[in-house]
Amino acid sequence: MRTLLADHPLVTHKLTKLRDTRTDTATFRTLTDELVTLLAYEATREIRVASIYVTTPVGTATGAQLTGPRPLIVPVLRAGIGMLDGMTRLLPMASVGFVGMVRDEESLVASTYANRLPARLDGREVFVLDPMLATGGTLVTVISMLRDRGADAITVICLLCAPEGLARIDEAFPGDYVRVVTGAVDERLNEKGYIVPGLGDAGDRLFGEI
Ligand code: URA
Repeated sequence: MRTLLADHPLVTHKLTKLRDTRTDTATFRTLTDELVTLLAYEATREIRVASIYVTTPVGTATGAQLTGPRPLIVPVLRAGIGMLDGMTRLLPMASVGFVGMVRDEESLVASTYANRLPARLDGREVFVLDPMLATGGTLVTVISMLRDRGADAITVICLLCAPEGLARIDEAFPGDYVRVVTGAVDERLNEKGYIVPGLGDAGDRLFGEI
């Protein structure tokens, strides 16, 4: 697995505001949206392009154009939905699939409650959106579902990661098939599986407690 830490001052500034308990839901959503756009800039660095020529008013320029097959964006429900708009703004041609995962608060084991993915993903690049990479259980399941469908390359975009989650993904997917792009790698997980210092429950902070 490859990890790209986007330790840009603007990313850190926005992440710091996200972490702050005083940040309200509306501001939290706006900051998440802005952060995703910054992380997506790094995450799409290896996206496939073809060289093209265009005619400008004064000559011919060599440029690049995104090539097919269309990338797929997969927000992991519920919290990943808060990252979707920021990502589709940058990649409006991408299609969107959904996976819903819920974590048992006792065992910390994640189970799937929704799956809306294409049957086959051969040759396609996939961008998975999940704000928090904690134990890694959810993402190992989601990445396995995508790999089993033939996804060509998988990039996970997370706002924050725990070292334990990164290690688990690395163990499950050795090599460079998976890339993780994140704004920060925090200290550790606590006994409830929350990232420390983290930002709390990303789903609750984005959408309110239910
Ligand atoms: N999910 C969250 O929303 N927050 C954490 O700290 C860990 C998992």
